[in-house]
Amino acid sequence: MTVEPKPSIKDVGSERLAAWLREQGQPAFRAKQIREWLYPKWCTDFTEMTNLPATLRAELAVAFEAFTVSADETVRGTDETEKFLLALPDGNRIESVLIRAPGRETVCISTQVGCPVRCVFCASGRGGLVRDLTAGEIVDQVIFACRALGHRVNNIVVMGIGEPLLNLGNLIPALDAICAADGLGVGARHVTVSTSGIVPGIRRLAEVARPWNLALSLHSPTDAGRSKVIPPRHRYPLVDVLAACDEYARLSGRMVTLEYTMIAGRNDSRDDLARLAQIARRLRAKVNLIPYNRTGEGICAPPAEGVAAFLDELCAGGVQATVRREKGAEIGAACGQLRARACPADGGAVG
Ligand code: SAH
Ligand code: SF4
Repeated sequence: MTVEPKPSIKDVGSERLAAWLREQGQPAFRAKQIREWLYPKWCTDFTEMTNLPATLRAELAVAFEAFTVSADETVRGTDETEKFLLALPDGNRIESVLIRAPGRETVCISTQVGCPVRCVFCASGRGGLVRDLTAGEIVDQVIFACRALGHRVNNIVVMGIGEPLLNLGNLIPALDAICAADGLGVGARHVTVSTSGIVPGIRRLAEVARPWNLALSLHSPTDAGRSKVIPPRHRYPLVDVLAACDEYARLSGRMVTLEYTMIAGRNDSRDDLARLAQIARRLRAKVNLIPYNRTGEGICAPPAEGVAAFLDELCAGGVQATVRREKGAEIGAACGQLRARACPADGGAVG
């Protein structure tokens, strides 16, 4: 017999929680007390909610999960990067990364178990999509990082496992709770959502009008080039992707970042460079070059001097560009690599 996992209390809507509290004979103000424990106090255990009656704490523990993630493995890099392989109540695993830089503590969070997009270089998509994360599971990764740090993180990047814009129904309420003053209180301008270019998702994100930053994983400045790294099922025509990003920048007033995973011989030609610079100038976007972090056979990053020359030429062409050394590359911390190693059936062979 399989036991259904209990719902996360963070995924129980306010009306349902109010009805549940009424059934327990509890006054309505208990909902606010519970919320205060769950969000600003990062409480992970109902028994610690000391201003609630003991019977109510016990009933809550029977009905709901207070916290949904637990560390299966923690890998610390030499550069203040800590990667967590996190187990969910149903036994699935995801990853979060905590990156400490002076004055800027960032957590990189996952939005799905696996990923349906399945880009050729990415360990996260090897086994396809298992399931979406719930809003509670997304929020709990941030609480986990805050607890590990001992204080609140001040930067959130939605760049872990999964395609965030294919799980917007859960991501939007999760980020709202992460940013709310009576939630986790992270500044909305310090949130970046990264997408492989899901046009309807970019448009929806523009409509909901939150001041979150958008990062587009461009990878190649042409449709032909993108078709070699992003399979067709979730790939949109570049002209539509760029128009959606343009609209996002216009409506949100935020600058778009172009992420460009560099692969030798696939997207590092002079022609690629010229077209990339053109797109970046047109969108007034900054460019983040990410040397490919090896996840399997067949493809490799350009040599370091090739990446440096590409960067120099972009900058000389008036584009604001940086190289993101995959922090934690030495601990196998590229997207999805720890999970792929821990569950080879889901993540496929990893080199
Ligand atoms: N699905 C979203 C967000 C998660 S991936 C997206 O694709 O944007 C976040 C970033 O990590 C993407 O830009 C992706 O290209 C990059 N990435 C994934 N695996 C990588 C690898 N092995 N080497 C370098 N960059 C990688
Ligand atoms: Fe999914 Fe992003 Fe990995 Fe592509 S790069 S497979 S969209 S997580």
